[in-house]
Amino acid sequence: MKITLPVAAEKLRAADKILITAHINPDGDAIGSTLALLQILRSMGKNAEIYIDDKIPKNFSVMPFAEEIRQPREYEKFDADLLVILDTAPDRIGKIKDLTGAPILNIDHHITNKNEEGDLYIDANAAATCEIIFYLCRELSAEITKNVAVCLYTGIATDTGFFNYSNTRPSTFRAAAALVEAGVEPNLISEQLEKRTFREVQIMSAALQTTKLFYGGKVVGMFVDRELYSQVDTTEGLIDLIRVIDSADVAFLITEKEKNICRVSMRSKGVEVSEIAKRLGGGGHVRAAGCTIYQNMDIAKMTLIRTIGEFMIENGYLRPIDFENREEVDLAAMNFENEQS
Ligand code: AMP
Ligand code: MN
Ligand code: MN
Repeated sequence: MKITLPVAAEKLRAADKILITAHINPDGDAIGSTLALLQILRSMGKNAEIYIDDKIPKNFSVMPFAEEIRQPREYEKFDADLLVILDTAPDRIGKIKDLTGAPILNIDHHITNKNEEGDLYIDANAAATCEIIFYLCRELSAEITKNVAVCLYTGIATDTGFFNYSNTRPSTFRAAAALVEAGVEPNLISEQLEKRTFREVQIMSAALQTTKLFYGGKVVGMFVDRELYSQVDTTEGLIDLIRVIDSADVAFLITEKEKNICRVSMRSKGVEVSEIAKRLGGGGHVRAAGCTIYQNMDIAKMTLIRTIGEFMIENGYLRPIDFENREEVDLAAMNFENEQS
């Protein structure tokens, strides 16, 4: 059931033992929002813990209290009276559902979140879940300490591409300003998040070499195979290297993380990539979305390029006259790849 922010605050006040989680492949917003809420709830005297069913990328592991984030073990149980799910619907939290059967309070900003399990507070206009947590903090009259502010700022900064993307709105800056007043030093956070080892920069260059154009340059893709993936801590930021290409409306990155598990990230300048991701079982935002394709790289690549092509034709981003059936879309995708690479 959809609820308002004051009702969400009430649910938190009423609970004592609270399990907080966020999506797998955790990003700055997922990690920042869980860490901020952990501190807020503890300051209210609650017994709160964070479990995330994935590893935490090392650039985020310096955030305050990050060492408290636990990864669930198989068959582990956690006795809680509320499960708070942040920055995703309950379908992307991995094994957390096996940890507890507690009622769900879901707080998110993804327009594709259609969760009907438990209570949902959704603000699809919020730039980040951390922006929502900032306003929730006010609702709870909780103090925004410097440590809380650092976590919230990190989530807002990463989800807005450091206040560059179209999700950046006046209230995003207002929240960020208050967080800087609470002690955040934006330059230090940027430095920490940008940090890469020499090897990682070399890998970036190898990843860039895989870049190819499709559909006359309107789509650009990058491909990180298992070999390349095994050498990096995270693929975060790689897609930003190619989404700048002037001809491209859609940029995508396919990472084969494990055999037949391909993670897809998409960015766009207007094309509703959340809709494309949904067709492949994922979701996200209009201009930033993702999904997972359970196939090898070659099949995932074909499936994704075809789905992007079909969506773009149906919605007038590509001329249908050139692509009358699936085979032609495949062919066009392949041809453009060959022509442009
Ligand atoms: P990413 O490319 O991983 O940065 O993801 C872009 C956006 O899409 C983020 O807001 C994600 O939370 C969302 N997203 C990514 N993968 C999925 C998925 N499988 N289902 C729903 N949302 C997703
Ligand atoms: Mn996220
Ligand atoms: Mn987010």
